[in-house]
Parts: sequence; structure tokens; C-alpha cells
Amino acid sequence: MEKEKTKTKYNTLNKNKINEMITTLENYYKDAKCSLDYNCPIELVVALILAAQCTDERVNKIVPLLFKKYKDVYELAKAPIEDIEKIIKPCGFYKNKAANISKTANIIVNNFNGKVPNIMEDLCTLGGIGRKSSNIILQECFNNTVGIAVDTHVTRISRKIGLSNSTTPENIEKDLMSIVPKKYWNKINHIFVYHGRAICIARKPNCDICPIKDICMKNA
Ligand code: SF4
Repeated sequence: MEKEKTKTKYNTLNKNKINEMITTLENYYKDAKCSLDYNCPIELVVALILAAQCTDERVNKIVPLLFKKYKDVYELAKAPIEDIEKIIKPCGFYKNKAANISKTANIIVNNFNGKVPNIMEDLCTLGGIGRKSSNIILQECFNNTVGIAVDTHVTRISRKIGLSNSTTPENIEKDLMSIVPKKYWNKINHIFVYHGRAICIARKPNCDICPIKDICMKNA
């Protein structure tokens, strides 16, 4: 019964409303961009591995330290995991993340001639890199948009505002791709991350000052 109610709500958002909602947020968060710093694709790959359960600010401090010691993916592939662990420890879950960084560097060296791959299927073979991170790498480093990066902000906000009633990132991405015009696919993640941090905060969304409060399905 509850499921049907949610579905009806979801279906009432039409294409015009979706466009209005996204363009309103796009104008509101004009400067929205990837908040992870990187100089080359391998730095972004490592930053995305470290970003799980960690703030972007902290990741942005640790990535330069790692690449100060290991100049490129070849040096990173040879680095003892314990040494990587010591550098990345402040990012949390450091054992797992160090193992994934080492595994990823070795896969890139051995399978992709030392270059970060530019195909979704190949990127998903790297350690600690799934569809969400692959979408970001493709968009940021290769100007290639094949999907929508669905993280916790995109998951929560898409469900709240009425763009999806799915629960898994994979299904939410499919829902979004079916209703959001492709020109917005590479912007949705950044816009929703900014919105999730500034106004549509997980514990206490600030609906009173929200630029899309009249369209958001939460208030329908
Ligand atoms: S109206 Fe409230 S729930 Fe809807 S997007 Fe804005 S802050 Fe989030």
C-alpha cells in the first residue's frame, strides 16, 4: 500500500517540472563543481578511493602528500601497502583504502599500460571504484558522460524531491537517466552535493529557504 502511494507521488513530476527544478538548482549553485582536487586522472582515482566516509577537504590534503612521495602510478604500484597506509591513515578505513590504491595502481600498470582507462567497464575493474566513481572519472577526465554519478546526496535528494523512488544507486541512476535530459547528467551530482550540504541537509532540510520548495514532492 505504502509502495503504491510513493509511486503515485513519483509519477506526478512531469518533464517541465523536472526541467524547472534542475535549472533552478543549476542557477542557484552556479559554481557547483567536483570538490576533489586533482592534477591528472590517477590523482582523481586515488581521491575517489579515499573519499569514502571521509570529507573532501581531508582527501584534498592527503592526495598531494601521497603523490609527493610516489610521483606516478608506477611508483605507487611498487609502494609497500604499509607505507601507503601511514600516509592515508587520516582518511579512515586506511587498511582497506591502501589495499585498493595498491590494487588499482597495479591493475593500471599491468592491464592498461599505466594509463587510467576511459571506459566504464574497465574502470569498474579497479579496486574501490564502482559506477559512481567511474562516472565522475569519465566526466571529469575524459569529457565523456555515459551516466549519472549517484552518491548519498544524489540518492537522498532524488528520492525526496520526487525524481526516483528506488533504493539502490544503480536503480536510482536508471530512473534519473530515463527522466533527466542528457545535458544535465554531468551536472546533477555536483548540484545535488552542493544542495545537500547547503540546504537539503540530511538531518534537517531547510525547506523554508529552498529555491525549489514549490516544486519539491516532499512538500506536495
Ligand atoms: S523543499 Fe526541502 S526536502 Fe525539498 S529539496 Fe528543498 S530542502 Fe530538500
